[in-house]
Amino acid sequence: MSDFPEFIQFLYEKYRNLDSGKLACYIPELTKANPNWFAISIITTEGEVFEIGDNQENFTIQSISKVFIYGMALEDCGREILLEKIGVEPTGDPFNSVIRLDENSKRPDNPMVNAGAIATAGLIAGRDPTERLNRMLDMFGRYTGRKVFIDVPVFMSERATGHRNRALANLMLNFGMIGSNIDEILDLYFQQCSVVVNCYDLALMAATLANRGINPITRERAVKSGYVRDILSVMYTCGMYNYAGEWAYRVGIPAKSGVSGGIMAVVPDRAGIAVFSPLIDRCGNSVRGLRVFEELSDRFKLHLFDLG
Ligand code: GLU
Repeated sequence: MSDFPEFIQFLYEKYRNLDSGKLACYIPELTKANPNWFAISIITTEGEVFEIGDNQENFTIQSISKVFIYGMALEDCGREILLEKIGVEPTGDPFNSVIRLDENSKRPDNPMVNAGAIATAGLIAGRDPTERLNRMLDMFGRYTGRKVFIDVPVFMSERATGHRNRALANLMLNFGMIGSNIDEILDLYFQQCSVVVNCYDLALMAATLANRGINPITRERAVKSGYVRDILSVMYTCGMYNYAGEWAYRVGIPAKSGVSGGIMAVVPDRAGIAVFSPLIDRCGNSVRGLRVFEELSDRFKLHLFDLG
């Protein structure tokens, strides 16, 4: 661990000029990101922080939110009921795929693809949309250790242009997979994706999962320890879009990425790691992020199956 500062400095210098990849453009507001932003943050389960680069730069969490909403749904519904409604099978398809939703599928494949994440948002408890939104923001706040907010322009942008997500919700309604309040469900889904974080926050959120659900800085519990296992399992098998298999092979730790350029990974009982750099590849993963994680995993033997 004493080598972290030097090594992340080395990685930062090595990859700061790597400029392959593109900004996500299907949500118009995301094209305003600065392609040069680059940050690496590591927070250990003891609360030690190692970071370099644009760690305080804000961005919307996007798909990384799916991990935490899944944890919330586990707490709200319990494992067995949730499993009846949302599977845990990796798809190998792009995150927003419509292909595997048909009459024969009883439930969306997993909570990390959009269909499953929208269905998960539909299971969050609360009397009305405001209560559900507030519960969700409080939940994120326990992981970040501070109050979180929604980026309203990004939310509005996605709400106005998210036709594909709307189509997924309509199909799932047709197949009886979600309730009929699809506008409310989609709003909550777009709001969860629009929560504002920075790279430090993501590392702390990951460190909280690494620390069995207790935030290592505030010492507050963010999620019941018994559900951390479920969350990490779907992250491991489904968290990196249709690159999840290669990620598991090369890097070997549970992780989740988002199209705004964040990647968050959990080293159980040791640390949370986050990289932020908005240029993404065809699967939706940050290009610099992938390189940094591969090297970190090799250098510190983070791969869960690296037995030496
Ligand atoms: N809000 C985005 C969507 O639903 C999330 C995309 C992502 O980060 O994968 O399309």
